[in-house]
Amino acid sequence: MSIRDEEITVLGGGIAGLASATALAQRGAVVTVLEQATELGEVGAGLQVGPNGVAVLEALGLRETAAAVANVPDAVELLDMASGGEVARLPMGQAAVQRWGRPYWQFHRADLLTVLSDGARAAGVDIRLGRQVDTIKDISASVVIAADGVRSATRSEVFGGQPASFTGQVAWRGIIPAETLPKGAVKNAATVYMGPGRHLVTYPMRGGTIINFVAVEERNSWADEGWNIPDDPENLRRAFSGAGQDVQSILNAVDETFLWGLFNHPYLPQWTKDNIALVGDACHPMLPYLAQGAVMALEDAWVLARELDRSGVTEGLRAYERICKPRATRVQKAAASNATAYHLNSGPSRLVAHAGLKVISRLAPSALLGRFDWLYGEDVTKLDLQR
Ligand SMILES: Cc1cc2nc3c(=O)[nH]c(=O)nc-3n(C[C@H](O)[C@H](O)[C@H](O)COP(=O)(O)OP(=O)(O)OC[C@H]3O[C@@H](n4cnc5c(N)ncnc54)[C@H](O)[C@@H]3O)c2cc1C
Repeated sequence: MSIRDEEITVLGGGIAGLASATALAQRGAVVTVLEQATELGEVGAGLQVGPNGVAVLEALGLRETAAAVANVPDAVELLDMASGGEVARLPMGQAAVQRWGRPYWQFHRADLLTVLSDGARAAGVDIRLGRQVDTIKDISASVVIAADGVRSATRSEVFGGQPASFTGQVAWRGIIPAETLPKGAVKNAATVYMGPGRHLVTYPMRGGTIINFVAVEERNSWADEGWNIPDDPENLRRAFSGAGQDVQSILNAVDETFLWGLFNHPYLPQWTKDNIALVGDACHPMLPYLAQGAVMALEDAWVLARELDRSGVTEGLRAYERICKPRATRVQKAAASNATAYHLNSGPSRLVAHAGLKVISRLAPSALLGRFDWLYGEDVTKLDLQR
């Protein structure tokens, strides 16, 4: 069995689409990507890629080009939003490599998309921009990979996805030039400032010249789910008034921000049907609290290509779903529960939880890291399940 010369169309040129296209073309398939945008990677935002995602980039032969544009943080820090005091610190940098075999990386999203699209073109993929697909019935290919994102029209058209419900959480995102921040506020870390009903995540990109932020607030008023919906930075500052000095100085430096409503999407019973497979956010949209949505898309891409190559279209698509779905579902659930951990309201439960984390972090940092072994320690490129 092989997918050599098989004609495959990939709908969507995001992380999932480009990684899938690359993996498939590297195995000899004739791959076309149809992307509605006229330019790839317009969104100015950050993306963290844990060691399990780095494993896929490496297997695609993109480790070097990705490393050249990645930032390697020293740590993930959890801080109390009001006092700025440390609640927990997970060493990353060399500690991640020692524990999970690969680094933890942070990118400007556009840089990772460039790495992937260069990789796809080098593998022979035909990327067609400005091509909006209204129905997948218009696509004639022996396999169709729908990588059309969180609001996937294919999911609704073919898999009958149910409507999503607003979580009561919104996320502002944006980028701040590091030079506009006070010195102490720029750290080579993923920093999570945790407060009741809200949190702020910051991390550096592009050699520390710019800082990515994502600020989440629990609230009743609804917001749309989309990358490019601008909001007044004053609304963001108002939502975080009362936060400590570091948070205030970071948010005071924001002059452009975008608001994203966070939605719960029902778990899809099925990811594949006939010759069609969903990949990435199209099949496992998740809350961004574990920084694994795009990483799961990388894992999908690798497994999908390997299984199609190994077993042909019908059995290969089934195997892809059988291997990837349980893990992605576990990640979706873990991401959702992180919101609760970050947003604990004030009072005894918050104090006890923070004190507990502080003790573990100081006395047994490896126990904290060990909580992520199932996630970061997995290497889907080495998985060889007996079927
Ligand atoms: C605030 C925030 C922070 C995040 N941080 C992280 C992180 O640090 N790490 C991480 O791993 N994940 C993170 N994620 C999740 C990550 O962004 C997504 O999981 C990832 O982008 C999914 O990639 P995708 O290719 O499936 O979808 P998308 O990136 O949405 O790509 C879908 C593509 O399909 C195209 N498309 C859609 N419909 C059509 C059509 N009809 N015709 C043609 N083209 C079409 C779109 O234009 C788009 O280019 C974050 C998410 C959010 C909201």
